[in-house]
Amino acid sequence: MAGQFETDVAILGAGPVGLFAVFELGLLDLKAHLVDILDRPGGQCTELYPEKPIYDIPGLTIVTGQELTDRLLQQVKPFAPEFHLGEMASGLDKLEDGRWRLKTDAGTEIVAPVVVVAAGAGSFVPKRPPIAGIETYEGKSVFYSVRKMEQFRGRDIVIAGGGDSALDWTINLAPLAKSLTLVHHRDGFRAAQHSVNKMRELAAEGKIAFHVASVKALHGANGALEAVTLAGADKKEWQHKADALLPFFGLTIKLGPIAEFGLNLHEDLIPVDTAKFESSTPGIFAIGDINTYPGKLKLILCGFHEAALMAQAAFHVCRPNEKLRFQYTTSSSSLQKKLGVA
Ligand SMILES: Cc1cc2nc3c(=O)[nH]c(=O)nc-3n(C[C@H](O)[C@H](O)[C@H](O)COP(=O)(O)OP(=O)(O)OC[C@H]3O[C@@H](n4cnc5c(N)ncnc54)[C@H](O)[C@@H]3O)c2cc1C
Repeated sequence: MAGQFETDVAILGAGPVGLFAVFELGLLDLKAHLVDILDRPGGQCTELYPEKPIYDIPGLTIVTGQELTDRLLQQVKPFAPEFHLGEMASGLDKLEDGRWRLKTDAGTEIVAPVVVVAAGAGSFVPKRPPIAGIETYEGKSVFYSVRKMEQFRGRDIVIAGGGDSALDWTINLAPLAKSLTLVHHRDGFRAAQHSVNKMRELAAEGKIAFHVASVKALHGANGALEAVTLAGADKKEWQHKADALLPFFGLTIKLGPIAEFGLNLHEDLIPVDTAKFESSTPGIFAIGDINTYPGKLKLILCGFHEAALMAQAAFHVCRPNEKLRFQYTTSSSSLQKKLGVA
């Protein structure tokens, strides 16, 4: 939706923290627009682990990345945020009237007194293994993330890698797959020990196969994989039947255009003060994984706290002549009206 928009707050990043910021801003009557390069909200939760359970969201004993995103979307509904998805935030400049203009590569311009950078790790792209022609299979039979487990039911799957993602998906997809083979170049893993133990159990029971090997070549036509060539530690090669390959070699995290916004950065993170979560540039706030301060933990719950404090400070930038009254949602009828529950 290219166009020019004026609002109170432009949020760069629609991950969990950007979404919760909409809620905290909404309680203070501040309207928000969100920009995200991904084609859906949820950030890492929906892009990297939509079906994995999260256990440390306060009050939710267990919630998947997708469920958490769905709940956040439901929670911000009363505040009707505007999403600009599939757009890269590509430029930021200050207007003469003191407001900021956030621009995207799709031609969208959002003018606001406050910009909240909730860009997580930046624009993240999976590391592509150096296998000739792999790009022709991507999205058809080579996948770097699992969006729907059902898509893999009854398939001959090869998973490559030795980290948490490779091990987790080996364990989670094993019951659905026709066959599942994990390949890793050595018999040692960077994953959680309980996942490694579980994988070895499955292999011992014959439910999956594990080979110390690497994927050397892909065979198939029109993006439909039929087999892969594997090479063992002794360099011996063999063909292995496969119609889905999931390489998990980590992500290349690129801060992307934010690096050119003229913000003070420390190792690709934005230093903030912990009273307001404002950067050293007035009016530009940073919350969630993208910021840094002493004691920072890259946890969703920390990002939620940061969003609450940011909103209080952003209010004073957006409404310099108005007083802010602290209120509880349990007892404030005006907050309940905003939430549509009174
Ligand atoms: C496998 C895994 C498991 C995890 N488990 C847990 C857990 O159990 N508990 C927990 O608390 N945390 C967990 N985390 C960490 C948690 O996901 C992050 O802390 C959280 O996602 C940070 O939220 P965020 O909104 O700050 O950033 P993100 O979720 O990274 O979202 C940032 C968004 O900004 C967008 N963006 C960046 N740059 C641009 C740009 N220039 N233009 C447009 N869009 C841009 C990105 O596309 C992204 O959607 C886990 C992470 C991983 C990878």
